Amino acid sequence: MPLAYIALGSNLENPAQQLQAAADALAALTEVRILAGSSVFRSAAVGPGQQPDYLNAVAAIDTSLGAEDLLDRLQAIERARGRERTVRWGPRTLDLDILLYGDQRICSSRLQVPHPAMAQRHFVLYPLAEVCPRDVVLPGGDTLAMLLSRCPADGLAETDLELNYHLQH
Ligand code: AMP
Repeated sequence: MPLAYIALGSNLENPAQQLQAAADALAALTEVRILAGSSVFRSAAVGPGQQPDYLNAVAAIDTSLGAEDLLDRLQAIERARGRERTVRWGPRTLDLDILLYGDQRICSSRLQVPHPAMAQRHFVLYPLAEVCPRDVVLPGGDTLAMLLSRCPADGLAETDLELNYHLQH
């Protein structure tokens, strides 16, 4: 079954609770097994206006779902948490992104994998590195270690929040 990496992010309505709810909902999908989950990281929001800090984490899963079906499930979880999609890069109760899906490169109208912004986002790369080997070669040829070396962790703080990822080995 393909191994995939999912980024979880929230900066509204009790972000820690939102991330836990996302982990609960992911684990409840019969076609998904959560293999590992990262620490929770805090960072200042990028985007318009004054926004609360973000909390971010990454889960490693294996799944029998195809990538687009997985995206459907993630979007259903986002909707269930009341995510508003009104402002681009605006505040959000819950954001779930597919970072990697096996070793596939996907470029459809709905889905781009590897996630196009991951290389620039410390709040994605550092939690990812906790659950994914740094020597993994990503579609495109870079290793995760190479992306990390180009993306300083300035402004990113590891919290002591602990999510229950309902791990299944
Ligand atoms: P965002 O507001 O940043 O969560 O973007 C949501 C949109 O990004 C959705 O309409 C998805 O179809 C699209 N999208 C493209 N690639 C991905 C990906 N790898 N993971 C999640 N959403 C994606």
